[in-house]
Amino acid sequence: NVHPLPPSALKGEGMTSQRARDRLATKLKEEGIRDQRVIDVIRNLPRHHFIDQALHSRAYENTALPIGHGQTISQPWVVARMTEALLEFGMPQKVLEVGTGSGYQAVVLASLVPQVFTVERIEELLRQARRRFRQLGLTNIRSRHDDGKLGWPDEAPFDAIILTAAGDAIPTQLLDQLSPTGVLVAPVGSPSHQTLIRMRGDGQGDFIQEELGAVSFVPLLGGIG
Ligand code: SAM
Repeated sequence: NVHPLPPSALKGEGMTSQRARDRLATKLKEEGIRDQRVIDVIRNLPRHHFIDQALHSRAYENTALPIGHGQTISQPWVVARMTEALLEFGMPQKVLEVGTGSGYQAVVLASLVPQVFTVERIEELLRQARRRFRQLGLTNIRSRHDDGKLGWPDEAPFDAIILTAAGDAIPTQLLDQLSPTGVLVAPVGSPSHQTLIRMRGDGQGDFIQEELGAVSFVPLLGGIG
């Protein structure tokens, strides 16, 4: 079910980044990532494409990096962990992401699932992310400039929802937009202490909640930036 990126996505890149990505993939496995589909996508996706040229030499480090406007591209391990947590109970058809940022997480998802919807509150970041989606030839991502806490009501319900910024609670509007057996993954907590939470609909209108470990994310902001 993995959609390979078109060959043009990798045009002009040297062997160096492929080797660096192979090393990153090995590291993700060593650090507990189990879903081979997710590891394969990260191994093949040019992360340097999502960050400023000045940071290209650090693109395949397992670390978050600045993308401007006080925001970051998430750490590859966190992207992998959240993605595998979303896919564990079956392949979602329609996924909503809150916090497009660089667009990297959206492209990881779009390589695995049929349809991705992503919302970003900082217009300039969204503009850059859209350009990257076009350059990679991806046609299964729709994006919009809005407060992602409101979700995307016209497209609901979603089989999976991922938040890539941390709030002190999961916005109820988002839970309302989850399908009855859908899965939501989000960092929840204060800036100094956050836990990755997974909520899974039980099909009867209730949620099964799990804690997946400590994480560190930028805050979920209100309004439109
Ligand atoms: N998924 C991103 C990536 O792969 O690069 C990581 C993004 S960064 C850790 C979190 C993003 O969430 C930032 O771009 C920030 O502007 C955005 N954000 C924060 N609050 C938001 C909100 N209420 N609605 C939409 N986006 C929001």
